[in-house]
Amino acid sequence: MPTYSYRCTECSNAFDIVQAFTDDTLTVCPTCGGPLRKLFNTVGVTFNGSGFYRTDSRPAASSSPAPAPAATTSTSSSSDS
Ligand SMILES: [Zn+2]
Repeated sequence: MPTYSYRCTECSNAFDIVQAFTDDTLTVCPTCGGPLRKLFNTVGVTFNGSGFYRTDSRPAASSSPAPAPAATTSTSSSSDS
């Protein structure tokens, strides 16, 4: 289970918490109720790239959305007239 680091933007209360991937991200400081900022210097999880909050600005890499290939449409072959 990864350890997430949070830091409050109001009171600068920093703490670590072990959360599963399915757990919700903490957003409220347990001390003062201010907004929390999630830090990514975590143990066990490695994010490539530098800086925080890279997930918000994702590059438009998906140029052409590939449609799902048509699965074996019943090709009625040998349709002689
Ligand atoms: Zn706080």
